[in-house]
Amino acid sequence: MPNSRRTPAARLDPRGPLVLDTRTLPRRPGSARTETRTVRAPADLHPGLAGIPEGSDLRLDVTLESVTEGVLATVTAVAPVTGECARCLEPVAQTIEVRCQELFSYEQGAGDADEDGYALDGDLLDLEPVLRDALVLALPLAPLCRQDCPGLCAECGALLARAGSEHGHDSAIDPRWAGLRQRMTHGEQAGQPAPEIREESGRGRP
Ligand SMILES: [Zn+2]
Ligand SMILES: [Zn+2]
Repeated sequence: MPNSRRTPAARLDPRGPLVLDTRTLPRRPGSARTETRTVRAPADLHPGLAGIPEGSDLRLDVTLESVTEGVLATVTAVAPVTGECARCLEPVAQTIEVRCQELFSYEQGAGDADEDGYALDGDLLDLEPVLRDALVLALPLAPLCRQDCPGLCAECGALLARAGSEHGHDSAIDPRWAGLRQRMTHGEQAGQPAPEIREESGRGRP
């Protein structure tokens, strides 16, 4: 998507799902209007392991408020997020909620007092760039299927959540230690300390 910080030549499409018409908002500081709408999520909201599927429902609560310089838009958006777990690569589905606020200045033609700001296009304002920035920032960088996801086995790639805590690879232990291990395991049961085997099993069983 091109950056939507508008030049006067680029007119907004009033039918755009994220284009709001401020005509019914009196241009008198203090007047405000609130609306709720559900729109389809725009494309390209999937920068990493997690993203918002194109066309999924974005639920918006929008408050438009007249201020001296223009219209202040306050938006709360609730969006579905899908992706893969950063540890086990299983599908992840969750919901994020973001809140953002942006001033859309009246077009005065008096130069760019604030080059980074947004401007009204006539009576219209476009929430998309504002919302896009807020949503992308809110996406989890390392989504997890659950907070304590054990990930994959480093040896065989098995899903540890499914394989269970017993999952391990005895073959990872040097065969020269196998006999000792057996003895030590036996010894442990008899209450004898077994420092070497602790170290070894720590490596063999992540
Ligand atoms: Zn996981
Ligand atoms: Zn394994």
